[in-house]
Amino acid sequence: DKEYVGFATLPNQVHRKSVKKGFDFTLMVAGESGLGKSTLVNSLFLTDLYKDRKLLNAEERITQTVEITKHTVDIEEKGVKLKLTIVDTPGFGDAVNNTECWKSVADYIDQQFEQYFRDESGLNRKNIQDNRVHCCLYFISPFGHGLRPLDVEFMKALHEKVNIVPVLAKADTLTPMEVKKKKIKASARDVKTRCVLFVFKPFVLKQIREEIEQYGIKIYQFPDCDSDEDEDFKQQDQELKDSIPFAVIGSNTVVEAKGKRVRGRLYPWGIVEVENPAHCDFVKLRNMLVRTHMQDLKDVTRETHYENYRAQCIQSMTR
Ligand code: GDP
Ligand code: MG
Repeated sequence: DKEYVGFATLPNQVHRKSVKKGFDFTLMVAGESGLGKSTLVNSLFLTDLYKDRKLLNAEERITQTVEITKHTVDIEEKGVKLKLTIVDTPGFGDAVNNTECWKSVADYIDQQFEQYFRDESGLNRKNIQDNRVHCCLYFISPFGHGLRPLDVEFMKALHEKVNIVPVLAKADTLTPMEVKKKKIKASARDVKTRCVLFVFKPFVLKQIREEIEQYGIKIYQFPDCDSDEDEDFKQQDQELKDSIPFAVIGSNTVVEAKGKRVRGRLYPWGIVEVENPAHCDFVKLRNMLVRTHMQDLKDVTRETHYENYRAQCIQSMTR
C-alpha cells in the first residue's frame, strides 16, 4: 500500500485545465534553528529532499541548513502532477547577533517578485517561470511560552510579502517537568497526554493566537466558506481555523505501531505517530496546503502580495 500526499484527490476549487497541466507550488519554511523545519518538509511530501547527503541514517542525514536552498521535486499521483518547490532557510538564533535575521529571507521573496515583474514586462510573457513564494510556514518553539521577540520581528518583516502560516514545532517534546509545572495530571504511559497537542494545546496555542493579534501580525487568513456549503464542510472549515497554529511533529524514520509501519518517533513511553490526527495536526496541515487551500494561497500571493510589490515598483519608477 503506497502512501499518498493527497493532492490528486481533486479539490473542487481547481479547474480541469490546471489538473492536466499540473500544479506548481512554492513553500518556504522559516524560524529558529533546530525546530525541525527540514525534517517536516521531508515528512510532508514523503520525499527525501536531502537524499544527496551522504550519511546513512535518515534522521542524521539532514544537516544544518546554512543558506537559503531551493529543492524542486516533481510528484505525480493518479496522473496528476505537482511541481513542488521547497525553499529552506537557515535557522536564526545561533548567531551572536540576530538583528535583521529576517533580512535575507525578505530579500529572497522580493527577488522572486522582481524577477516575475521583469519577465512580465518582457517579450516572452507566456512562459514565465513563476518562483514566487506562495506560503511560509513559520516555526514557533515549543519551549518558549508563546512568541519570542525575534518571532514577532521576523513575522512582521514578512507579513506584507508572503502568506504566513504559523506552526508550533516539535509538538511531542513535552517533558514531565512541564506537565508538573502546569499542574496537569498526565499518565506517563499515555502517548496522547505526553503530546503538547493534548496537554498544552488549549494553553499554548491560545496564547500564541492572542499574541499574534496583540502584536498586529497579519498571518494568512483562511477564506470564509460559502454560506451554501453543507454543515459538515462548515464544521471542518471552522476546525481548521481553530487549529492555528498547527501543532506539528516531523520524522523521517518509520517505526512499527500496532503492527503497522508508520512515520513516527519512538519513546520509552510509546510511539508518537506523525500522521495520526490524535497525536498532532500534521495531516490537517498537509491537507490544507496541498488539497483545500493551495489555490487560495496562490491567489492571495498574486492578488495581494505581488500586487503590493508591483505597485511599489511602479511608484518608485515614476517618482
Ligand atoms: P531545522 O534546523 O529547523 O531544519 O531542524 P531539523 O529538521 O534539522 O531538525 C533538528 C533536530 O530535531 C533533528 O535531530 C531532528 O531529528 C529533530 N526533530 C525534527 N522534528 C522533530 C519533532 O517533531 N519532534 C522531535 N522531538 N524532534 C524533531
Ligand atoms: Mg534545516
